[in-house]
Amino acid sequence: MMTDSIYTEIIMYHNKEGHNKHLLDHPSHVERGHNPNCGDDLTLQVEVEAGFIKDASFVGNGCAISTAAMSIMIDLVKGKSVEDANQLVKDYLEMIRGHELSAEALESLEDAQIFASLQKMPARVKCGTLGWHCMRVVLESQDSSESKITLDHNI
Ligand SMILES: [Zn+2]
Repeated sequence: MMTDSIYTEIIMYHNKEGHNKHLLDHPSHVERGHNPNCGDDLTLQVEVEAGFIKDASFVGNGCAISTAAMSIMIDLVKGKSVEDANQLVKDYLEMIRGHELSAEALESLEDAQIFASLQKMPARVKCGTLGWHCMRVVLESQDSSESKITLDHNI
């Protein structure tokens, strides 16, 4: 298990570094996440091209946990296929709900694993899942348009 100091270090790095905090030139999806309990208000921008997450970023203001969770999620899904990103979102949300993941699934979440401890902090769960819910909405919209395209081809 990761120690608290590594947890703090990763969260601080993503808040200080801000490498994912900017606007995209050509986002195909923009999804705002708002958590009134804490005041987190972050907007995810994603550029999906040919079934892959070509680029992603976020803007807005949130607490250290929501900001780090969003930034780590972006690092993780960037360059992945929509299908792989969908799996990561599913695994992450299951982990937060306290479901046991396979070692392989846990490994694939990389730094996002540190948020497993949120299941013991119900008040902060919404902070840690805000960005991931934004991504889920983006991927779901992507899914339906993709299956429509596939369907058209079949006809
Ligand atoms: Zn928060």
